[in-house]
Amino acid sequence: MDIIRLRGIGVSPGIAMGDVLLPKRVVFTSRKELVPAAQVEDELKRLGKAIERTRADLVRVRETIKDKMGEESSFIFEAHLLILEDPSLHTGLENIIRQEKTRAEWALSKTNTRYEQLFESLNDEYFRQRKSDVSDVLTRIYKNLAARREEEKESGREHILVAHELLPSEAATRLGRSEATLGVALDMGGRTSHTAILARSMNIPAVLGLRNITSQVREGDFVIVDGTGGEVIVNPPAAVRREYQAKKEKYEIYRRELQKTARLKALTLDRVRANLLANIELPEEVPMAMSLGAEGIGLFRSEFIYLRTTSLPSEEDHLAIYNRIAREAAPRPVYIRTLDIGGEKSLPQLNIEQEPNPALGLRAVRFSLRNKPLFRIQLRAILRASRQKNVRILIPMVTEVEEIIEVKDMFEDVKDELRREKQKFDEKIPMGVMIEVPAAAALTDLMLREVDYVSIGTNDLIQYFLAVDRSNEFVSYLYKPFHPGVLRLIRSVIQSAQKMEKEVTVCGEMAADPLSAIVLMGFGLRTFSMNPIFIPRIKKALRSIEAKTAEKIVAEALKLSSAQEIEEYVIEEILVRHPQVFLTSRPLEPGH
Ligand code: PEP
Ligand code: MG
Repeated sequence: MDIIRLRGIGVSPGIAMGDVLLPKRVVFTSRKELVPAAQVEDELKRLGKAIERTRADLVRVRETIKDKMGEESSFIFEAHLLILEDPSLHTGLENIIRQEKTRAEWALSKTNTRYEQLFESLNDEYFRQRKSDVSDVLTRIYKNLAARREEEKESGREHILVAHELLPSEAATRLGRSEATLGVALDMGGRTSHTAILARSMNIPAVLGLRNITSQVREGDFVIVDGTGGEVIVNPPAAVRREYQAKKEKYEIYRRELQKTARLKALTLDRVRANLLANIELPEEVPMAMSLGAEGIGLFRSEFIYLRTTSLPSEEDHLAIYNRIAREAAPRPVYIRTLDIGGEKSLPQLNIEQEPNPALGLRAVRFSLRNKPLFRIQLRAILRASRQKNVRILIPMVTEVEEIIEVKDMFEDVKDELRREKQKFDEKIPMGVMIEVPAAAALTDLMLREVDYVSIGTNDLIQYFLAVDRSNEFVSYLYKPFHPGVLRLIRSVIQSAQKMEKEVTVCGEMAADPLSAIVLMGFGLRTFSMNPIFIPRIKKALRSIEAKTAEKIVAEALKLSSAQEIEEYVIEEILVRHPQVFLTSRPLEPGH
């Protein structure tokens, strides 16, 4: 048998190996089957029954998942029940059956295609992924139209789940049975899909976005899923199996070690305390972040609220989510970043104009200040959630001080409004800005006269400073966090904040890379916010060094003139002084 290696996106680290299970896919009919006029009412009844069964199914699965995985994982089913109850879905399906005199299967098929086209036309990966929620509900109704419902019988045998795409409810049901599902490999999906989030929280190695794995494997094939390296190996020879078995064991020892680290303080060898916070996109991620040792939520990307609904979220929708995060993280702090949308991230609910140069366009706070009614709703909800006292606010992508003043004026206005309504909120709610535009970095001191803290978004700051699109693979060779210019800029922001005795955080990807984190520590940074799965490895790296040594190394490194020289110098110096940094933190690096 040939060995096939497939590359995808490693979304949940670790190694799993076993036999492939390929669940059957429901294929919507492409045939428009007509019914006599007299039978239209029967078709509508059949549809009604299928919807009823679907409702019962969803409630049942929601309860099972709640029992097995906790409240936070059952949100998918709440969302699905809402989609199922949406009156426009029902009228849409009924209209097709009545007007076209067709079978219910065709109405579902047509509706599904319509939604697929709508979601596919959107540019943003996260938005595109949301089509699977609607599809999930329609598929369940479709299955329930059959007189005899075919329940998939699964032996409960251990397997690697391989599929084109997992509908969110399917992901939750199958991954919930983690004893049987050892690993996951999908054609579709990305880092922010439900499957990715669930796999991470269930510790199941997963590689998504493999494009065509379903056509390259058969039921019963043996595969290795390398969730750390983002690779799937089909029918490996014995030597490769042994190699991965050894890697798997090593990884598991490493993971256990990291779990222990999660409970320890982020303290360097010379007892300098660092603060490690989590970046999250969904409220369901809070418990996992806490279990990995997060000392708060350093960045909640609130745009993800908009991606969960097909309409615009109301103040109450915002509030429910902020309250939940604040409650679950309490007493630790929660930094809610206001909407970072616009540019290539479009909102299907709004008609955002296509811009010729979206990265430099009406994004983030620029968008919010142009859409004040929308912004006001969000500010009111954040303020109302601040009753819990651990809520803070973060404004993305500011370029000039005037923007901060405009936001603050609006904020005061909203506070007055809430006072008049006798709504409670934290009168002292802190406000900060993201430093993501180079001009803002140069104005850190002036910005800090207006706000309580800054958070450096290195993902955007590097892209704008180096004029390198952060997601364009053609120029990715130029995207260098260790570019001496970038390091000087970041250092100057940290130093300005320190001079003013104000808080400064790094919340871009640099905070999650052990080597970069050490460099940042050397610049004097003490608060790091990152994807929670990286918290243990950063803690481990920081616990293996002396802050004093990091300071000395970076002071020398900044005399060098290229990113490569700097990186080599930092690695060599750390190797000599604190080799344990690499012994423990390198194996989790993506690609290793
Ligand atoms: C950043 O730009 O570094 C950041 C944290 O924001 P985002 O990745 O959401 O743009
Ligand atoms: Mg950003």
